[in-house]
Amino acid sequence: MTRARNLLRIWASLTAGLLMSCSAPAPDNAEFFVFGTLVEVAIANADSATAQSSFQELQSMFQSMHRDWHAWEPGQLTAINEAFAAGQTISADQSIAILIQQSQALESASGGRFNPAIGQLVGLWGFHTSDYPIQAPVPSATAIARLVTAQPSSLDIRLTADAAQQWQLHSANVAVQLDFGGIAKGYAADLAIELLRSKAVPGAIVNAGGDVRAYGTREGQPWRIAVQNPLGGIIGIIETAADEAVFTSGNYQRFGEDENGFRYAHILDPRTGWPVKQVLSASVIAGSGIVADAAATALVVAGLDEWREVAVGMNLDALLLTDESGQVYMTREMRTRIELTEGMAKAVVLLD
Ligand code: AMP
Ligand code: MG
Repeated sequence: MTRARNLLRIWASLTAGLLMSCSAPAPDNAEFFVFGTLVEVAIANADSATAQSSFQELQSMFQSMHRDWHAWEPGQLTAINEAFAAGQTISADQSIAILIQQSQALESASGGRFNPAIGQLVGLWGFHTSDYPIQAPVPSATAIARLVTAQPSSLDIRLTADAAQQWQLHSANVAVQLDFGGIAKGYAADLAIELLRSKAVPGAIVNAGGDVRAYGTREGQPWRIAVQNPLGGIIGIIETAADEAVFTSGNYQRFGEDENGFRYAHILDPRTGWPVKQVLSASVIAGSGIVADAAATALVVAGLDEWREVAVGMNLDALLLTDESGQVYMTREMRTRIELTEGMAKAVVLLD
């Protein structure tokens, strides 16, 4: 898919993704293009000087994240990955050190279903590109098995900080290649919210292509977040006036196609090395963007058979899954939080 079409598609999902009441005055908002996604930030009740300086700082913050965390464009992360592959020690910024520490906790909590150390596998399947659908051929079973057997894990990485708080990284496993595609948006949204809070902005929402992080209210009203339906349209609306994130992962957004036209997902099961099947999407509510982002990815890997293990490990109550036929399954907690669209109420199956 070309970048222009991608932008259009994202814009369409954004307008569906960020619903606001029409009566109150429009909040200040700005758009940024980062991580291949249009990110819309809307802030409430801030004076125009605060809004202006916030948006300027967000712009440079997003730019450096894009540069430093990119999985395949040469930058800080690709240098780190090269050092890991060569068995060398390398220094890193605080933001990458935090991303790795968070990754280690989230990988463990998800039972290894979220694993940001499988960059080599993601690359092997051809997903280190901005052009969809993927043109690269399906890799050989031998090449996939070789990378799975090497068992790359973020827990293989040792982090040490020197007196100047400069971090040193070393991987005990040369097969580790970091790919933050599963959490970068979530962590970026958390950092954006942190920045706005530090400027005493009373409420804000960050919408990264339908993945949303919010806090506070808009003129006393809750933020309204649309949950994407992988088959088109939306499943329903979640209202929040708290510090929350609603993230969706799915096969439907980015995929490859084999020679028979069979679509395969950009989310891989780290235990098999193959793209996940069974579920089309997973959506989840969590207290932070980074947890919601990792959890949505892990839930797609877990599917209908293993979602409970991820829910328990990652402390998730409100989640939903959509299977290949479009059937929507959700927990009771999600059912109480979501205002379903017409027709959807009768069609959902409760997960117990
Ligand atoms: P998301 O859209 O948040 O689910 O992230 C998907 C992206 O995360 C993919 O494009 C890969 O870069 C990466 N990824 C794929 N499979 C996994 C996995 N099992 N764990 C962590 N990251 C993954
Ligand atoms: Mg994710």
